[in-house]
Amino acid sequence: MLMQNSFTYVDENYKRIYNCIEEAKAKYRKPDENVTFMAVTKTVAPEVVNHAIFNGIKVLGENRVQEFQSKKDFYEPAEIHFIGHLQTNKVKYIIEDMALIQSVDNLKLASEIDRHAKRVGKIQNILIEVNIGDEISKSGISPECLESLLADVSKLQNIHVKGLMTIPPAGENEKFLCKMQELYLDISSKNIDNIDMEILSMGMSGDYEKAIKYGSTLVRIGSALFGARNYK
Ligand SMILES: *Cc1c(COP(=O)(O)O)cnc(C)c1O
Repeated sequence: MLMQNSFTYVDENYKRIYNCIEEAKAKYRKPDENVTFMAVTKTVAPEVVNHAIFNGIKVLGENRVQEFQSKKDFYEPAEIHFIGHLQTNKVKYIIEDMALIQSVDNLKLASEIDRHAKRVGKIQNILIEVNIGDEISKSGISPECLESLLADVSKLQNIHVKGLMTIPPAGENEKFLCKMQELYLDISSKNIDNIDMEILSMGMSGDYEKAIKYGSTLVRIGSALFGARNYK
């Protein structure tokens, strides 16, 4: 595909998705509630990602450490979040660039992030990823173990939990979006020390309007914005 064509394509997709987000917000949410439109950049060339930024995207979602490193110098200014599976030995490569690491699901990873955050002199904001459907194939902490993980993570000095992230099961999606909202509100009501529930990251290309209905504050959009990928 020629770059010029993909720019027009991204322009059109951006406008359509932006309007759908606004409509879903107007329908389901209070006027003062914000929903962040994140662009998920995996496999997408930096020039095309930048075009999304020119359109109004302010937050990028990165899945792969190496791919991010090869692209980051070419990005226009944007807030970067890590949303993919993160190995403990790769934390050191991304710690300085990430405003938020969304995919933390175990204490070992949290402790490693804490250690590197201390080293570089920052408090690293994170989300805990929840495997809301308890699917064997997916990462994320099971809902039953969430509170105990939060209790452990809350003791770490150099990370700050800002909320929860999830990828719900493909079928019966709405049931799990609803379950996730209940879990988020339940944790929120417990007012755990050093744990904030400000961000509920859920909703992707296929379910973001529904996710907004169930309280999402950040939708992660890849293929609907940039087109189909060859790999996930
Ligand atoms: C790829 C990915 C997305 C975006 O998926 P689309 O269906 O293409 O919008 C969102 N979140 C995570 C964690 C992803 O890996």
